Amino acid sequence: MTARVLDGTKIRDQVFADLQGEIQRLATQGIRPGLAAVLIGENPASQLYVKSKIAACEQLGLASWMHTPPASITTDELLRLVDQLNTDDAVDGILIQLPLPQQVDTKRVLEAVDPAKDVDGFHPVSLGRLVSGRPGLVACTPAGCMEILRRGEIKIEGANAVVLGRSDIVGKPMALLLMHANATVTICHSKTRDLPEVVRRADIVVAAMGKAGYVAADWIRPGAAVIDVGTNKVTDAKEAERLLQNFPARLEKFRAKGSVLVGDVHPDAIHTAGALTPVPGGVGPMTITMLMSNTIKAARLRRGKIDAKTVPSAAGAR
Ligand code: NAP
Repeated sequence: MTARVLDGTKIRDQVFADLQGEIQRLATQGIRPGLAAVLIGENPASQLYVKSKIAACEQLGLASWMHTPPASITTDELLRLVDQLNTDDAVDGILIQLPLPQQVDTKRVLEAVDPAKDVDGFHPVSLGRLVSGRPGLVACTPAGCMEILRRGEIKIEGANAVVLGRSDIVGKPMALLLMHANATVTICHSKTRDLPEVVRRADIVVAAMGKAGYVAADWIRPGAAVIDVGTNKVTDAKEAERLLQNFPARLEKFRAKGSVLVGDVHPDAIHTAGALTPVPGGVGPMTITMLMSNTIKAARLRRGKIDAKTVPSAAGAR
């Protein structure tokens, strides 16, 4: 068996097409959703992420602003900037790119963001809404995983879903979203016993551990759906060979480049799973997509005059 590939790039394009409609509806009310990104210091990975997020705004015609305070910024200075963005009516979404410099109190800064503009879904109010099943802004990566499952026509209701990882930004919200969609959810972490046996019972596996190829192909129940959130850069040649021995073209690329991106699930799982997200090109493209979706949703909830129930929203907007 070869798994059906759940292509995140294609799903992103479908969601973007739906979002265009919503952007046009808001435009008829004189609303142009806007995202303010705060990028501190010179971290190259953060710069790249924020650049991609701003590019996605431009592609969709959303307003965007980039604030780039120096790495020496204090917590109080950053809180003042967040306050300015909270009170700026043109700003619908505030994105604080993490990690913040050591001297900055990250929790205080994230909690200072107006929950109505919390497009990353990290604020305790957003998490509380998710726990209690109220509409709100949901963390982008798990929301993207749900969108992949829905658009990939994976049956969630009644399914046994196993989530590997319990972080605040992926594992926990993912488990809650699956539970609200009527899956029976098991959450696993580093202290879980008999992990292979737990995974073998799953109809849906969501792997978010940060361990390259950790989930072996024979842990996957034949036909199960696998959402691989892990994004691990492998640079060790032996490790690359262990993971990619059955994928000569990818191994060749690794040799030429010196690195390869691998998920938490062993690539051989393509022969046991029924459907699976590739790495790269699966969950990755969906995270920025859901940030765009959240920004539009925030604009609609905060400024829109249309009844939210009448607007079909991409975004797994519950
Ligand atoms: P994290 O905060 O480091 O959490 C990892 C989780 O995995 C923890 O709950 C940990 O358990 C669990 N874990 C670690 N080793 C385990 C083991 N051997 N068995 C079972 N559970 C184990 O990571 P994260 O921020 O959630 O990210 C997870 C992965 O997703 C990373 O590879 C990250 O790069 C990727 N990611 C990708 C995107 C994307 O857009 N594609 C977005 C976000 C994250 P404990 O709680 O017991 O320590």
